[in-house]
Amino acid sequence: MPNRLLSQSALLHVIPSSTRPCRVVGDHPSMQNRSLPVLLMGVRRMASFEVPADCPATPAVWQQAAHRGQKRVGWQDQPCSWLEIRPARTEEQGMDQEGRSRLSATRSQAHTHLITTAKAITNSRISTPWNKAASKCLAFFLLSSIHWRMSPVITPKLCEACDLSPATVTEPCDDESRPYRLCSGCQHRLAMRSLRPAEWYRLALQHCPHNFSLHDDFYLDDGTADQPKEEVVDAHLFPAPNLNEKAADLEGLWEFTLTRHALNEAIYQAWRRHPQVSALALLTQCYEAARNTHIKSTILNLCSHCLGAASPDLVRRAWRDYPESMYFGALAKASVACLPPEEGFNRCFDAFKPLPLKEQRRRMMYLYEFKNSQMLDWIETHIEPPITDDWGRLASQSGITWSRVTKWLESGRPMSLVALDTLSGVVRAAEERRWKRHVPIEDLPSREEAERCLRAYEATDAAPRIQYSINHILECFHLLSPQSERAD
Ligand SMILES: [Zn+2]
Repeated sequence: MPNRLLSQSALLHVIPSSTRPCRVVGDHPSMQNRSLPVLLMGVRRMASFEVPADCPATPAVWQQAAHRGQKRVGWQDQPCSWLEIRPARTEEQGMDQEGRSRLSATRSQAHTHLITTAKAITNSRISTPWNKAASKCLAFFLLSSIHWRMSPVITPKLCEACDLSPATVTEPCDDESRPYRLCSGCQHRLAMRSLRPAEWYRLALQHCPHNFSLHDDFYLDDGTADQPKEEVVDAHLFPAPNLNEKAADLEGLWEFTLTRHALNEAIYQAWRRHPQVSALALLTQCYEAARNTHIKSTILNLCSHCLGAASPDLVRRAWRDYPESMYFGALAKASVACLPPEEGFNRCFDAFKPLPLKEQRRRMMYLYEFKNSQMLDWIETHIEPPITDDWGRLASQSGITWSRVTKWLESGRPMSLVALDTLSGVVRAAEERRWKRHVPIEDLPSREEAERCLRAYEATDAAPRIQYSINHILECFHLLSPQSERAD
């Protein structure tokens, strides 16, 4: 994974944590990179640092960095292999017993060596007042760098929730394949639904806010525990970031977005304030690195609401993940918003057609927005009890003609019921002023002609539901036509 440019604000953001060990906290790229600024800030403030001769990991870049005292050194404009971050996913899982033992022995050796080196550095000729924190930072950086060089395995050392105590337990309660790595205190608080806001936020970010232990029955959007089984201790000392703090920087905004149970207009507006080109580049990169379907569908959601026609290729890319790792609903919404209408409908309909009717009925609502009359043909061939108003709702948004309405009425139940639900659906959309859903009836006749037709049907089927429906349609007959007040 290549290093990425971190913004100035990201650099500043990590200064307060620079006295902590350098480490890798997860496989999210921007989180991995946080160890680099820590290093760089350390270098910047240690202008008089001299590298001990026997230090095992002191390539020229270190000395250059120390001498130049720049904010961006080595890893960005002078790529250096030992500063590369490698993916967190490892080959270790596929190793046999012997391979694991060998790896473990090498690690242990390197660890001992590094401890010695770290002590040497701490006691060496570091002469600035900042030396203690900086040398600690350096020592741990060396530890980390050797660890990376030795093996692609990256093991988070600190608790994923509090980010302070060592991770001592693996908690698989929500996802056995991707367990939480926690300290015992956070494990207890997770079980008691009493995480502090910042702890909840970090877990939601690194895992998924929809995980059972983190979901919105237990935590509010700001990370406040909503149903704690015991008192939440010092919650006010561990607040979660809010949108205002994160909105200015695209990467920060992306992280914040990932922790949301659901996206809202405030989030969409924050995204819209960034240039579309930058947002699209980031989302494309994040899509490729996405480790679960939640992340991928969040990206599509942002495409639908913030990028629209600017992001067709990303939506086409996402279709390649269907059905293994992408939801039909997210794809359908993004296809409506981002693809040319014909292509969007065809992709969805091709995925929809082969499904069993039970599945199709669940997904009918995603096809409303295409407003495509092919759905009317589909209704005619697939109609089946129970005749709920879903069929009519779909037809009311699919551009039906009056001649098809009369054909359905004349054919009797069940299509006559769908015809009435269709007309009612068009009326209701106008009554509720939901203009995006209001698709007027094509070739609508005069009111008299329509009434004659509807009353003729009523004479054959005088159920109260039919009478009520026909009376209401005729009362609001004008709403079946195009409406001049529609805003869009
Ligand atoms: Zn913890």
